[in-house]
Amino acid sequence: MSETIELNMSGSRGGGLRGWWLSRSFIQKRMLRVLVSMLVWAICVPLYYLGLFGSVDGPLNPARIGERLAGLGATRTHSMILSLSFLIISVSWNWVYNLVSLLRGSRLTCTRTNAGGSPCGAGVTRSKTKNQKQAVYICTQGHRRADAHFHPIRKGTLSHSIWVISLVFCIIVLISSY
Ligand SMILES: [Zn+2]
Repeated sequence: MSETIELNMSGSRGGGLRGWWLSRSFIQKRMLRVLVSMLVWAICVPLYYLGLFGSVDGPLNPARIGERLAGLGATRTHSMILSLSFLIISVSWNWVYNLVSLLRGSRLTCTRTNAGGSPCGAGVTRSKTKNQKQAVYICTQGHRRADAHFHPIRKGTLSHSIWVISLVFCIIVLISSY
């Protein structure tokens, strides 16, 4: 019952934030726009006077932040080590994960081709043959094969962006130390 009501409501107004926005009157839209820009100003003006954007000498000025970090004993070597370890972790996490998965025998599927020519693809468990010499993969359909297909984890857009950002930080630290 509640589902049909929800469907009707979203149907008549377009649904979500966009539907809500479209259902406002012209005056309401103008008022809300003014309100939002005032809010943005209210947040940005104090940050500006605290020096976050670098043009005013305040406690949040990037140079001041650097001074304070130096005061805490953080050196360029520290920043270099930090950004380098970030880079190494962000580049290699899926290699490590894939290696562990491969050693544990997880993320494997059956390679037996069906009558239609497509692979079975069911999950397999690894066990040993009777003489304990060779691994054998038994899938949930009961196929026994000497090999299995491994599905490695690949990096997505986010992972790629994170290692690129780490690399940029490394380069910044490297350049700023000269
Ligand atoms: Zn199978």
